[in-house]
Amino acid sequence: MKDHEQLPVTAIKSARGVWLEDFDGNRYIDAISSWWVNLFGHCNPRINDALKQQLDTLEHVMLAGFTHETVIELSERLIALTPDRLQRCFYADNGSSAVEVALKMSFHYWHNLGLHNKKRFISLSNSYHGETLGALSMGNVKLYNDTYGPLMLDTITVKSPDCYYREAGESCHDYSVRIFSEMENALQQHADECCAVIVEPLIQCAGGMRMYDPIYLSMLREACDRYDVHLIADEVAVGFGRTGSLFACEQGSISPDFLCIGKGLTGGYLPLSATLTSEKIYSTFYDDYTNLTGFMHSHSYTGNALGCRAALATLDIFESDNVIENNKIKSAYMRQAVTELEDHPHIAEIRQHGMVLAMEMVKDRTTREAYDWKQRHGLEVYKHGLKNNVLLRPIGDVVYFVPPYIINNDEIDLMARIAIEGINIATAD
Ligand SMILES: *Cc1c(COP(=O)(O)O)cnc(C)c1O
Repeated sequence: MKDHEQLPVTAIKSARGVWLEDFDGNRYIDAISSWWVNLFGHCNPRINDALKQQLDTLEHVMLAGFTHETVIELSERLIALTPDRLQRCFYADNGSSAVEVALKMSFHYWHNLGLHNKKRFISLSNSYHGETLGALSMGNVKLYNDTYGPLMLDTITVKSPDCYYREAGESCHDYSVRIFSEMENALQQHADECCAVIVEPLIQCAGGMRMYDPIYLSMLREACDRYDVHLIADEVAVGFGRTGSLFACEQGSISPDFLCIGKGLTGGYLPLSATLTSEKIYSTFYDDYTNLTGFMHSHSYTGNALGCRAALATLDIFESDNVIENNKIKSAYMRQAVTELEDHPHIAEIRQHGMVLAMEMVKDRTTREAYDWKQRHGLEVYKHGLKNNVLLRPIGDVVYFVPPYIINNDEIDLMARIAIEGINIATAD
């Protein structure tokens, strides 16, 4: 908050498409989709219309003993669109809660089978799974762990396949395969006490848009089956086309035991999340009441009708506009727009999976020596963006684009030019 003494908060008056407008009439391209939630632009006419209709029909009803048409339709469509194994949906209202649901359900599954030793989880270094205590315990971003560590669950951390650390000349594929041995060892050692492995498929977003190869997902799926440990895919950030496929798991040709989705689920309109799971897991909870095997978790706004309607309108757009295919052209254009940074002395790497592109600023390109974090080079890029009509919000020294899919080439050009200028200013010696 103290930063704002120098840098006032930007108050937004209205928004349309990729553009945000403040009270002084300044406009900003929302290059980060308002923290990765927006897919098809602000005030999208199609989502707006769907919501207006829903608003005059049913705004909300509790989802215990009651249900409604919108949530049923959404569940059916999500099951049809997600990998095979996923047959059942559980709703919450944010990504962290979707992760909590997956953790509790995985634990409870083994508990229902009488395997009471299984109570720990494996997660990757540099991962992020949300802010509530269970989800935070799965995360591995140092600042969070240093602060809230004493409150956290005892999670097993395995080295991330983050390809930033591959050897010179080594491919991401080969690095991801090589690093998998660490996961194999952890599973061998801890499978008896482990409920699940949780990962962010392909991109560790909050961890600085660090990326890895889909082969890791394939190997992980195979190993989780072999060791009888669940696989939780946290696609809260990467789901709904960000990595180039509708779900990132598709690129590893895998079905997780739990899939957590949120953020883009409603196109960036309303807080709604879901945890999808298999019929097999569902059925261990399905029993006579007096056997007390039921899953215990509820949120007041579970399955909110407005959220579900926004999600349906979002899925309609994916279907009718051939979004995944068209994004391939857009992501190639976005990559080409930052070509001149390839040999920049302070850019260690430009990396991309689909509609997520990241540029990592470093003190020395050859040694990859990082800047002292206290120098806040990313903040310089942010400020330059604000002065020049682009909302960029670097994570540390990583400048990235996660734009709404409706961004056009002119807007990509502007976004890229301002990012490049910002990087030049922030890294000038
Ligand atoms: C944002 C995020 C979450 C948490 O979602 P919230 O809606 O902010 O609670 C969980 N997992 C991942 C991978 C995320 O990026």
